[in-house]
Amino acid sequence: MIKNNTSEIIKKHGLKLTKALGQNFLTDFGVVQRIVDASDIDKDTLAIEIGPGVGSMTRELAERSAGVAAIEIDKRLIPALNDNLSDYSNVSIINEDIMKADIDAIIKKYKELYNAKSVKVVANLPYYITTPIIMRFLEEVKGVDKMVFMVQKEVAERMVSGPGTKDYGALSVAVQFYSNPKIVFDVPPHCFIPQPEVHSTIIGLDILSEPPVEVADKNLYFKIVKASFGQRRKTLVNALSNSGFFNKNKEQIKQIIAEMGLNENIRGEVLTVAQFAQLTNLIIK
Ligand code: SAM
Repeated sequence: MIKNNTSEIIKKHGLKLTKALGQNFLTDFGVVQRIVDASDIDKDTLAIEIGPGVGSMTRELAERSAGVAAIEIDKRLIPALNDNLSDYSNVSIINEDIMKADIDAIIKKYKELYNAKSVKVVANLPYYITTPIIMRFLEEVKGVDKMVFMVQKEVAERMVSGPGTKDYGALSVAVQFYSNPKIVFDVPPHCFIPQPEVHSTIIGLDILSEPPVEVADKNLYFKIVKASFGQRRKTLVNALSNSGFFNKNKEQIKQIIAEMGLNENIRGEVLTVAQFAQLTNLIIK
């Protein structure tokens, strides 16, 4: 049975962990197993792991998947990763920055190599890049059906929140437009070395094959969402009136809102993902 050997590997390779790269490594093997459980990975899956560190989760992913493509930015960790994963022939370590990597090419290459039928992503990354990376995968990457990310607790709450709650915002709408997000479990600071200052949460995103609503112009949809949440204290009519990215005046916006069966003083923060779509489609009309 494999166990967590993070501390051992760090010591053996004399590694100094870098705060700037968010290097807080998991030392609790129970947590590692629960993350992998949540990813629904099986022997037909290519697991893309972003930020493998010294490979404690990579080993568990290798045990359960067709193969793992592990993308790690820090070249100092590569010898430790190779050492820790030497028992596995189904792991490819890619020394790249995920922000710059050609993700589609990586998926294509390793899906073929490991003869995998599906692709799932698992990541524990520095928190400042987690949201941009999640959004990049949701907006641009095709062929992934599930992602499991470690995020800051507050960010997870924003992703799953619904209309009218304090955490509901542009991030909630964007994530829910592309996926079905679920909070899986919280990970307290003592499960890492060194311990982070914030509480972490595992979020699972089941990627939707189609958006839940039909939108005539996706770009405009997200501009409207952003503008609606940009000025939370303003009514929807006022938030959109001077936005300048579509040619409808205040009166016309009021009419559209009435046509949707909504009160003219409504605020954007109570609109559902579907209502934002209806609003966008009526503005285009
Ligand atoms: N997965 C390991 C674990 O759970 O113990 C390590 C997680 S640690 C929070 C984040 C890892 O992401 C580090 O190994 C770090 O070097 C790596 N990383 C940071 N920025 C990255 C980037 N832009 N691209 C790829 N990996 C990155």
